[in-house]
Amino acid sequence: MARRRLNKQQKSRIQKMETQDHWLKGQIVARFGKSCELKIESGELHAQIPGKFQGNTPVEDLTVGDWVYYDPETNIVEALCDRKTQLVRYRRATTLTTKQSQHQCIESVHQARGKVVAANITQLCIVIAPRPFVDTLTIDEYLLAAHMQGFTPLLVSNKSDIPEAGSIEYKAYIEAYEALGYQLIRTSASELQGDHALKEQLQSHTSVFMGTSGVGKSSLLNMLIGRDIAATGGISEGAALGKHTTTTARLYSLPSGGEVIDSPGIREFKLATAEPFDLYEAYADLYAGERCQFANCTHREEPRCAVKNAVEQGKAHQWRYDNYLAFYSSLVEGKLEPKPVK
Ligand code: GDP
Ligand code: ZN
Repeated sequence: MARRRLNKQQKSRIQKMETQDHWLKGQIVARFGKSCELKIESGELHAQIPGKFQGNTPVEDLTVGDWVYYDPETNIVEALCDRKTQLVRYRRATTLTTKQSQHQCIESVHQARGKVVAANITQLCIVIAPRPFVDTLTIDEYLLAAHMQGFTPLLVSNKSDIPEAGSIEYKAYIEAYEALGYQLIRTSASELQGDHALKEQLQSHTSVFMGTSGVGKSSLLNMLIGRDIAATGGISEGAALGKHTTTTARLYSLPSGGEVIDSPGIREFKLATAEPFDLYEAYADLYAGERCQFANCTHREEPRCAVKNAVEQGKAHQWRYDNYLAFYSSLVEGKLEPKPVK
């Protein structure tokens, strides 16, 4: 594996870090401007965020989920550890993450001028329900995001207590995703069903819950955390009268193991862009084992296309292909330009 070349500032930052034995490593639980709540081995504490880090790492991007070095003598966060992943929010498109180094990540975010809203997430929990019904394009977009960012996708079909959950249509719809190989857990937040399976699946991950408003994300989070951390019952999250809104993203350590980052800004999202390669990977089910005539086939107008053949012959789902085409024109052909978030 190629070694990353460090610049002078990074070297000095690392040298400095190595000499500071008394620094502690902690994870940011919540950030409030110039201060944050930090989780360290012995518990949680409030720490200050300086104007600038060693090595000129910009502090404005420091976010919930980040691992940092903290000086207990001065109560100041001194350095940011490399991120594994990051979620970035744009005005009309949330999430772009990379598995690059922290410095490359920050650079790419600055180029696109988005806002990092959470770091080091490993699992994307996509919550769906029979009511409000969530269309496949929306689900596929979350799944595509998970593929692109290297997150484990987990489908959570909530409200299994309501009659529509037993309908032939709804069952066929969620079973189609299971047949595609996605892991799906059936839950009822109100009847406390499926909680064991869900807890087990969250144990070894830092997860985020995403999905359309009203499917039960807050209810599930309250169930998992064992207390009311998020108000439930909103039709439009936050806008509903009487529903208190959590404006700060927060990392919760689950009593059953694992962590969840909850942020109003990342519960619902839109992707900004995708590369053709991202789509090919996320839609591998469209190939049905055949090869297209052209190695660089985009599976749209090309002759002797294995994907189109598979769809025509019923070996692949028409709706998956339609979603693929929709994403190709919107995300690959660049009609959605990320806009900065103010
Ligand atoms: P969110 O917008 O995704 O956070 O959804 P909420 O957790 O606020 O839930 C929306 C509504 O659905 C509330 O009235 C909840 O009480 C209700 N709800 C949530 N989970 C369930 C469930 O499993 N079964 C039923 N019947 N209702 C639920
Ligand atoms: Zn093709």
